[in-house]
Amino acid sequence: MDELTLDQARSWIHAAALAMAENAVMLSELDTAIGDGDHGVNMSRGFSAVEKKLGSTSVPDCGALFKLVGMTLLSTVGGAAGPLYGGFFLELARTTAGKAKLTKADVGQMLERGLGDIQRRGHAELRDKTIVDALSPAVAAFQAEPNGDLARAADSAETTAKTAAEATIPLLARKGRASYLGERSIGHQDPGATSCWLLLQALAKACH
Ligand code: ADP
Ligand code: MG
Repeated sequence: MDELTLDQARSWIHAAALAMAENAVMLSELDTAIGDGDHGVNMSRGFSAVEKKLGSTSVPDCGALFKLVGMTLLSTVGGAAGPLYGGFFLELARTTAGKAKLTKADVGQMLERGLGDIQRRGHAELRDKTIVDALSPAVAAFQAEPNGDLARAADSAETTAKTAAEATIPLLARKGRASYLGERSIGHQDPGATSCWLLLQALAKACH
């Protein structure tokens, strides 16, 4: 597959909303161990608001779709993740403005810029035990797929994000609420890295 159509981009968001709802308990359990236990509730509330808005708004292109997602997540998710995922989607919107189809290069570029936005806002580096730990290697894996095959690149991003989210377990948190725990943050998987994997898993599904 060499292009992501607007319909498939909508499928991505729909699959992400389903995944956040199905995994809300798991994500909040992860957040209970090293935070305040609201990550799953936050993410599923945000994506269900997105689904509702998408049901009543027509979006002419991918930029408009991602803008709606970003604005809705910003106003409904809250916590640390709301502004980070909201900003991520607003950056995707800026990168894809006016486009009804995205090539593999377009998707790679938007993900890279989205990651850049998260890092600009949150100042997290690799191994700080955050969303960045899953997203950064996943974007690199996506970009490393040599040809224009979008589905293969998205699969590679997904498997990389899954492994990378699991690899946050032994890390000491250096950003966000979990960092208040110091050494006690070690031994638990980061909730934000995990929701980021789910988001990329949904993208891979939409690319098939
Ligand atoms: P809160 O911590 O405010 O309750 P959430 O529970 O919704 O917010 O989100 C927690 C997740 O946010 C963490 O697991 C972590 O992955 C992510 N996070 C926190 N701070 C940052 C940051 N500065 N950069 C990237 N991700 C972050
Ligand atoms: Mg929390």
